[in-house]
Amino acid sequence: MRHIDLTQVQRASNETARRINRDIVLELIRENQPLSRADLARRSGLQRSTVSQIVEQLIVEGWVREGSMANLPRGRRPTMLGLNEEFGVIAADIHPRIAILAVVDLNGRLLSRSQVPITSDPEASTRRINEAMMRMRKSLPRCTIQGIGVSIPGRVDPDTQRIIFAPNLHWRDFDLRTAIEAKMKLPVKMDNAANACLVAELMFGSLDGIQNIVLVTVSEGIGTGIFANGQLVTGNGGRAGEFGHAPLDASGPRCACGRRGCWEVFASCRAAVRYYRELQPKAPSVTFQELLHLAEEGDPHAGNALDMQAKQIGRGLGLLIAGLAPGLILIAGDISAAWHRAGPIIEREAKRFTVAGEPPRILPTHESEIARLRGAAALAFQRHRPDLSLTAVPALDSR
Ligand SMILES: [Zn+2]
Repeated sequence: MRHIDLTQVQRASNETARRINRDIVLELIRENQPLSRADLARRSGLQRSTVSQIVEQLIVEGWVREGSMANLPRGRRPTMLGLNEEFGVIAADIHPRIAILAVVDLNGRLLSRSQVPITSDPEASTRRINEAMMRMRKSLPRCTIQGIGVSIPGRVDPDTQRIIFAPNLHWRDFDLRTAIEAKMKLPVKMDNAANACLVAELMFGSLDGIQNIVLVTVSEGIGTGIFANGQLVTGNGGRAGEFGHAPLDASGPRCACGRRGCWEVFASCRAAVRYYRELQPKAPSVTFQELLHLAEEGDPHAGNALDMQAKQIGRGLGLLIAGLAPGLILIAGDISAAWHRAGPIIEREAKRFTVAGEPPRILPTHESEIARLRGAAALAFQRHRPDLSLTAVPALDSR
């Protein structure tokens, strides 16, 4: 018979309660700043003494700072609290050809932004990334950089933080974290881009109470971050979520992973560009951004290529819906800029592949580039606040 250690369970639940209360206080400050300790107690339903204790800790750690005093009737002048706006992280969003970098503050605002070209040579690329991060840090002397969050188009071993699978990036088994930490002297946290975006949506978005979410990044490839029953699903060795490499058609085109007919060879932005080339063999080659622009201008082939991509996105979502039954699917990627066109097709296809019940809501995240940068930033903030590990969502729901 399985033996359960009840003392451990008790300890865990006390610890969880403490973390949930802290998350609630921090989220209330984020949403309602500036506000006083009394406001916090009233809004959270927590005791004044508990609120004061949590606030003192958050001030010591640098998350929260005291600001002006409010003028209230009868001479009471409570000190107002707000997030420390000089507390920031560097976010690095790595793509196969480019790294987009930003300094992001606690409110999820981008304070500065930069980009560097990268190649299949990880050492030279990391040198460029480090140099750009140094410049950004210097340009914001008032901002205290707490750490670096890196989102990558692939999988990172959760224990060693080495890149274990990134077929579109070709940086296999490279220790990116150590290469950045050694130069920048700051802690680095890395994760898959889809997981990072999902953490950012949970941290900065308004998804209170939704327990089953899948976030799909559609770019050079396709990645998914899974939040099931209120928990981030990481799977064995952090490898969960590779739906982009689920085989849809064994006779399909070759994928960067070496196999044929993966979902991403039909539904990624590269696929859309390929569809356009097939429809318009004589046209000059285009980027996905240019394809979006051509479709907006009324080019029928560009429009058709995007429609084909949308159809394939919806088809793959059917797999996710059947397997995970999410209540919400978020799509992050440049395709969200053409949502008026792609959204209805994606929804129609997803509905067609829904086996039972109502299909989930499908929504684009706002501004794909910012979504991914905030994702990388959320990873770094999470490092300082491991309690964000997503207990905040059910907790906020029940406040
Ligand atoms: Zn593949």
